[in-house]
Amino acid sequence: MLNIRYELTTQKKEKPDQTKLGFGKYFTDHMFIMNYTEGKGWYDPRIVPYQDITLSPAATVFHYAQEMFEGLKAYKTPEGHIQLFRPDKNIERMNNTNRRMCIPEVDPADVLQALKAIVAADSDWVPDNPGTSLYIRPFIIAIDAQLGVKVASNYLFIIILSPVGAYYASGINPVKIFIETEYTRAVRGGTGYAKVGGNYAASLIGQKKAEEMGYAQVLWLDGIEHKYVDEVGAMNVFFVIDGEVLTPSLEDGSILPGVTRDSVIALLNNWGYKVSERKIAVAEIIEAHRAGKLDEAFGTGTAAVISPIGELNDDGEIMIINDNKIGPLSQKLYDNLTGVQWGRLEDTFGWIERVK
Ligand SMILES: *Cc1c(COP(=O)(O)O)cnc(C)c1O
Repeated sequence: MLNIRYELTTQKKEKPDQTKLGFGKYFTDHMFIMNYTEGKGWYDPRIVPYQDITLSPAATVFHYAQEMFEGLKAYKTPEGHIQLFRPDKNIERMNNTNRRMCIPEVDPADVLQALKAIVAADSDWVPDNPGTSLYIRPFIIAIDAQLGVKVASNYLFIIILSPVGAYYASGINPVKIFIETEYTRAVRGGTGYAKVGGNYAASLIGQKKAEEMGYAQVLWLDGIEHKYVDEVGAMNVFFVIDGEVLTPSLEDGSILPGVTRDSVIALLNNWGYKVSERKIAVAEIIEAHRAGKLDEAFGTGTAAVISPIGELNDDGEIMIINDNKIGPLSQKLYDNLTGVQWGRLEDTFGWIERVK
């Protein structure tokens, strides 16, 4: 149990227009912070006004990127309750990332308490327009003021909150994806399975290249042969081929184990679909498309939930999927997941954690 200290703001901010939220542009009145020092453990958990933080220019995180982050959302139900979707999965992944990054672990019960406390403190910021939610960004940074390369002894654990609209301005319309064969996002033995800024820093150049060519995101391939499918942008990827649902397996450690991915697999299994988690060669996707058997493709992630793929570009070969329309399975998954998240459908899997 954390003994959270509250220092509440006396100057609440004006709330942004719910129709113009975008993603991650506005922040709420408060944030959660907790310190760590070796030998002392995590201490001084507090909820304070949202504010800038001061760090030494030598702080480890600036130079060697010893840091981690998470992403989940709080949703407002039609009855006015506020709820989280599978926060236990984010907390479990948080500690998996911490172990990979040599960051001290956090007590799962403490993190859940902190998440609920900060969301409750700023519950008036959870928007209720259709498709909107409160994005929750927990992160840990190493803050030792010294330039030697070593595991830091001091850290900050912070949670900030941002009211967000639908992820894509265009709703859940299909996106165009460029298959990247030059750059690599992650490789076996690396940090692909960990949610860390470094993975994103490495991916920006591919994302930029794709955008310059008119594509929304990159389809990342395995880092060794550039032959097998890993992820699409910051989402896990699924293909529906001849009625069977395929997604890359997690075993190489180059793929981020998404909570949405796990939830999609659970729903599909429950509905009786055949779901295979295995290595998927790009060549297979191309072949299936040529044979008219690539029924649907979509990305999954907390931010966009389900993002249908309307077009894939493989070195100039353009594959249009499902006529550039949302496929029936993508739509069904989107409706069911968002239905449970926003409290419109029954939570048969026990995925919901009520905040208030
Ligand atoms: C966060 C993330 C995902 C999606 O994970 P969810 O838990 O479903 O939000 C997928 N890929 C990468 C690289 C990510 O960082």
